Formats: sequence, C-alpha cells, structure tokens
Amino acid sequence: MSLDWTQGWKSWLEASLSFLYPEVCQFCSRERATVSEGFIGAKCRQHAMFIQAPFCSRCGLPFDGEITTAFECSNCKEMELHFVHARSAVAAQGMVLDLIHRYKYQRALWLEPFLAGLLIQQAAPALRAEKWDWIVPVPLHPLKESEREFNQAERLTQRLSTATGLPARNNLLRRVTATRTQTQLSRSERASNVQRAFAFDKKNGAALKGKRVVLVDDVLTTGATTSACAKVLRAHGASEVCVWTVARGLLK
Ligand SMILES: [Zn+2]
Ligand SMILES: [Zn+2]
Repeated sequence: MSLDWTQGWKSWLEASLSFLYPEVCQFCSRERATVSEGFIGAKCRQHAMFIQAPFCSRCGLPFDGEITTAFECSNCKEMELHFVHARSAVAAQGMVLDLIHRYKYQRALWLEPFLAGLLIQQAAPALRAEKWDWIVPVPLHPLKESEREFNQAERLTQRLSTATGLPARNNLLRRVTATRTQTQLSRSERASNVQRAFAFDKKNGAALKGKRVVLVDDVLTTGATTSACAKVLRAHGASEVCVWTVARGLLK
C-alpha cells in the first residue's frame, strides 16, 4: 500500500515539476529531457564515459591498452587501502564533472536522477551478483552539510538502496573534523588529511559485526577518503567493505 502511495506521489511530483520546469536538456539546451531523466537528453547522455576493463582490480582505475590479467595500479601499491575494491560508473571529466559540480555546489538537485542513474546502472547488477548487507554513505562534516543543505553521498545511497533493496545505514559514520578540501592535495597529503576525520557511532552500529558493507560517494580520486571510512568500519566489525562512486577522478 505504501508503495502505491509513494509511486502516486512520485508521478504527481514529476508532473508538477515538468509544469514548473521546461523539459529542456540542462547541458546543451537543444534537446528534450524530462524530470526522470535528470534533465539530460539522449544526445548528451552519450558524453558519459563508462569505465570499462581493463582497470585496476583494487581501485578501479581505468588503464589504456590491452591487459587481460588482473593487476594493481601504482596508486594502490603505494597506499594502504582498507576496502576490498572500488568501482566507479563513469570517468569524472567533461560533462559529468560539470554536472557533479552543479549538483553539489549549486544545489542542482534536478540533475540527481541522471547522476544516480549512472551509478545504479553500473552498480546494481554487480551488487546483486555479489552478497552485500548494507549501503553506507561517506559522511559530510555537520558544518559542511548545513552549508550545502544536503549530503550528496547520502542521497545517492538512498537511491541505490531503493534500486537494489539493500538497506541504507546513514548513521554509522560521522565526520569529526572539517578537513581541507582534497582537490589541491597530493596523494600522500590526501591520505594524512583524512586519517582521523571519521568516527564510528556505537549506538547505531551495534549490528555491524560480520556485515559486508558497500560504501558510496559521488567521486573517488585516490581512494584516501573512502579508505579512511573503510578502516573505521572494519575496525568496528565489518567483514568486508567495497566502494561504489558515480565518477572516477583521474589524478594528473
Ligand atoms: Zn543535451
Ligand atoms: Zn589501483
């Protein structure tokens, strides 16, 4: 019954939004795009570069050329990563990177169905084929969250949870230090920047023991942030942690 109600509400909401907002692609302004498409039209969707093999078996970094055996990239060999593997739907470049910035920093929430759709398209079949228990978002510091008014990782987690049926657990991790933004930092600076940034919430995490956890964020670059989260989850009983993000940043 609640499902019907939700769907009724959703179609009502979509109908009202399409009345308020013209159905125009928000990237090129030259094609039709609906609310449920995240206002990105069919032509522009083709700009999204899906990450395909070959890629690093640990962190998912795509690699040019022909490699048929499993390999780990130099990023992973240098870092002590606490997740079993990380995967991303698309490369964080061009249109996708622009849309992620608009979504996060200009509160362009109407782009979310498109961005979450990329994640769901790639992650849901993989997660269904494996056995995972919970989906957990990378937390934002409360100050940052109140400034931004939402945590993008939490919203993406919710959508992936709905698509896969895996429960979302938003309150296991807390960000305890407001870290500097990672974008200008080198690989080793990123790792030390986030080392003690996350804490575990014992009252919400009593049942974590033995659980296999999917950690979700919008972008993964070196894996420093998600690895720091995975370390905390493992230290409090998670048996395995994997990572899924919408996009994969490519460090120059
Ligand atoms: Zn377009
Ligand atoms: Zn790697």
